[in-house]
Amino acid sequence: KIEISVCACRPAALQLLRRGLFPCAPIAPSLAVDVRMLEFVTTLFVRMPPNATAWCDTLESFLDGRGYKLDSRDSLRRRFSNALLWYGSLVNATKSVVTAYLEESRLSLRPSVCEDSSDDSTRGRSRVTVEEVADEDAAPSVASSGDVSDEDANEDSDGGASSHQSQEEPPLSRPSEYLRQRCPLCFGGKNCHDPSVVADVIACLDACFTQKRRKNKDGQRDPPRSHPDSVFMPEEDVEAMRAFVEATRGSSRTRSRPAETQEDVDGDRYEGNLRVPNSVLDECKDSFGAADEKREAASTQFFIDTDLMGLLCRHDRVLWLINMTTAGERQYYALALIKKFFEHLPPSMTVGILYDIGCQLHRSCVKWDFLPDVRDRITFGLAVFHAYGHQWACQIIYHPRKCVGFGLTDGEGCERFWSAIKKLIPVLRVSGYHQRLFVLDTQVKHLDEKSLHGMGLWLSRRWVHCQRKKSDAVDLLKKCGIDDDVLRREWRAQVEEQTKPAPRRSKNKGKLAVSKVIALRKSESELK
Ligand SMILES: [Zn+2]
Ligand SMILES: [Zn+2]
Ligand SMILES: [Zn+2]
Repeated sequence: KIEISVCACRPAALQLLRRGLFPCAPIAPSLAVDVRMLEFVTTLFVRMPPNATAWCDTLESFLDGRGYKLDSRDSLRRRFSNALLWYGSLVNATKSVVTAYLEESRLSLRPSVCEDSSDDSTRGRSRVTVEEVADEDAAPSVASSGDVSDEDANEDSDGGASSHQSQEEPPLSRPSEYLRQRCPLCFGGKNCHDPSVVADVIACLDACFTQKRRKNKDGQRDPPRSHPDSVFMPEEDVEAMRAFVEATRGSSRTRSRPAETQEDVDGDRYEGNLRVPNSVLDECKDSFGAADEKREAASTQFFIDTDLMGLLCRHDRVLWLINMTTAGERQYYALALIKKFFEHLPPSMTVGILYDIGCQLHRSCVKWDFLPDVRDRITFGLAVFHAYGHQWACQIIYHPRKCVGFGLTDGEGCERFWSAIKKLIPVLRVSGYHQRLFVLDTQVKHLDEKSLHGMGLWLSRRWVHCQRKKSDAVDLLKKCGIDDDVLRREWRAQVEEQTKPAPRRSKNKGKLAVSKVIALRKSESELK
């Protein structure tokens, strides 16, 4: 039993903390939890769906069996949750402060690039102290109607400031500090650009249709609480891209009507510098479009946050996530992610992007002139498991195994990430808006840490796999006995033939073909 005497200069919270106990409230706490216990629960709650109710129930029943009676279960749950929440905030704040200090000394060692955006993000991070987090959480509980506008104002000012600054900044000389932290294998190191490769980094892009959140009755959001190192893209960035995409399409759609009808008369052709004709891409679109429409119908009716879309590097580490609020048309989410990605990259770096419908995304970029300044640095491809749903001619160009530069990357990192956060689906379906994003951020951090420890192993496993594949391929090439040049020439000819625009439609094509066959038959019999 510990007794403490409290006065203004020696608050209970501090005295408890010094004894390794975390109080449930800053003033007059009625429950203090051992820090080791909180650490255990925190560690547990990223490996299973977080459930403080079940935890407290278990604890109480366990203690009860040993003769310790707590006054009431419900209040234990509330107080324990408070302690857990503030303990988590404290740990996050500590990490931010340490990162900020590291960043500061790193910048002083690299004076030449002290003006890049990493400088900006450091200042943003170092501002987050425990006290300020506390303020943020305390404010919204006062008024529920006021906090929405308050929060919007905050986001607006933040977004305005960052976009304003990015225009004035000199180009980055290396990937931003944010990206370097997201994946050291992709963005660390000294040389970020290698002119001999098609893509310096490969990222994959996908949407997930299971991480939804139900509409709640009043449509209000919970009190804001954001992770200090969040991977979610600010809502206003997504909104800006949506507005831009809709404006571009809306205005050109009405104008380009006559052009489209003419296209039908002329027959098939290529869009811009694309290497796959429109007829093929249309078929790709049809086969994927149907599936989307079905999903759309179900999701917006019951859910307010419909999906997640993520951009992950080839090591399955999350670069950015978007919380999707509309179903169906998803291209602007993808475009917003790609745009953000390039803002954090130096202008020399090239990127390969794998996406289920990479061919469609590429087509819209060319057709509507999206991402004009970075488009020539992007190589689009399909995610491997979805590639077989595409037309053959499309696969020839976009399949990552046929497109030079993608190596053995499969573009399915998103699927693996969705599967890793599958356990959170039931909890997050009924969660508050900010709470949901916070839990997802925490989960991303957990997975990052896990993958960081495994990266050496990952590299060695992939290297061995790659070498085996290569030696197998070389053996096969030797066995077939055909010259390398010949094979390459044949492949080029095949690609050209297979991706030709469909022949112009005409009424007597069939007749012509039949008469040709008949003529051939005749000459054949005559020869006999
Ligand atoms: Zn005193
Ligand atoms: Zn990576
Ligand atoms: Zn396709």
